[in-house]
Amino acid sequence: MSPTRTRGLVISSQSGFYTVQSDDGQWVCQLRGRLKKGRREGDVVGLGDWVRITPIGVERGVIDEIEPRKRMLSRMAPLPSGEYQQIIIANPDQAVFVFACRDPDPRFGMLDRYLVIAEKGEVPALIVANKTDLVSNSRPGELFGLYSEIGYPVLYTSIVNGEGLAELKDHLVGKISVLSGPSGVGKSSLLNTMMPGLDLAHRTVSQATSKGRHTTVAKEMYPLEGGGYIADTPGLKALALWDMEPDELDGYFPELRERVAGCQFSDCTHIHEPGCAVQAAVDSGRISRQRYESYSRMRSGQEEEYL
Ligand code: GDP
Ligand code: ZN
Repeated sequence: MSPTRTRGLVISSQSGFYTVQSDDGQWVCQLRGRLKKGRREGDVVGLGDWVRITPIGVERGVIDEIEPRKRMLSRMAPLPSGEYQQIIIANPDQAVFVFACRDPDPRFGMLDRYLVIAEKGEVPALIVANKTDLVSNSRPGELFGLYSEIGYPVLYTSIVNGEGLAELKDHLVGKISVLSGPSGVGKSSLLNTMMPGLDLAHRTVSQATSKGRHTTVAKEMYPLEGGGYIADTPGLKALALWDMEPDELDGYFPELRERVAGCQFSDCTHIHEPGCAVQAAVDSGRISRQRYESYSRMRSGQEEEYL
């Protein structure tokens, strides 16, 4: 009897071995030989891919086919032979960016950079402002309110008093989320509090050992109680803006994007041109100066401090 093919999700990858979760269990798989052809140019399969496999033994299988991706976060890694496309995650439903209201103080330049990456990848973003217990009642809104005005959902949370935790859980369950944010903001605490079964110990280790290396990509997704997965993606930080043409950047700031048609010059950089609708909106307070400054820093290539 020939083995039945089955469909599953790639939930971890290591040195050419992929763990595939299907309805009937987990399979450790390698790629079918003919799928390896494209491997010089980039990852053929990545975390978050839906694949078809043929079981070849006890919990072992071969990946025969990779389903088309809805979307993908990837980065181009320079190699002596050219560029290599690393898949950070395939098919994420959302990107969750966690910052603290204080300890550490939020670095909005970094948040803006993450948001640009999400916009470019067409991944819906969710902002989590954690540690609300450390500041006065009005402070979280003063810090993060401008992002709701632009249209990004912002959740205010605290593991100390429980604020927003149920709501955050609702946003995570049933979805594949990539989670990012500076260290110390409470990412592991939030996940551990909401999902007591989730063991993030090894995650913390892998993150610690990846410090300073710019090539690390997420290798594992963690299942959530009630469905869905969290992928930890240190690799997101390494998505350099050199993957991006300078003139695409205004398209990844929603509040700039909706105004560029009003600029006098079609190739307006919104930095110094006369008749610029973006600069006018900054002057009249309709675009936040802080966001505009993030834009101009990224546009002029001065964003390295956020790498
Ligand atoms: P990670 O590096 O983003 O995973 O951050 P951790 O989860 O390790 O948290 C860093 C520190 O912040 C720990 O000492 C946590 O106890 C603390 N912490 C996390 N969330 C909160 C919060 O909502 N309020 C307060 N006051 N402290 C928090
Ligand atoms: Zn302009």
